[in-house]
Amino acid sequence: MSRNGILIDYEFCTGCHTCEMACKTELGLPKGKWGIQVSQIGPWQIDDNQWEYTFIPVPTTLCNLCEDRVAAGKLPTCVHHCQALVMRYGPVEELAALMKDKPKMLLFAPK
Ligand code: SF4
Ligand code: SF4
Repeated sequence: MSRNGILIDYEFCTGCHTCEMACKTELGLPKGKWGIQVSQIGPWQIDDNQWEYTFIPVPTTLCNLCEDRVAAGKLPTCVHHCQALVMRYGPVEELAALMKDKPKMLLFAPK
């Protein structure tokens, strides 16, 4: 049977934290616990022309891929609420195939 996951194309992630708040609400998590957290790398200078300044949303062990929403035919709430369309939900094989064209992405595929 096909497994589902989330593909994270963080190039256009703005670090707005909306996914974090949507996830906390969905899972009913208390202060200090997160189903997804946005990491910030940089800013630091790579060379005269480039800076590293990157935001990457990372699901945690508490992520259950929004099982209740998905069972009701909805998208995971982090995917639904990200206005930058950073995250995509679907079968792992289909998501992995997309990485051939753009290798700088993360694939989250819990069992
Ligand atoms: S993944 Fe989307 S919702 Fe989350 S911080 Fe990045 S831009 Fe915002
Ligand atoms: S899929 Fe649902 S539980 Fe997992 S990080 Fe996204 S909002 Fe949180």
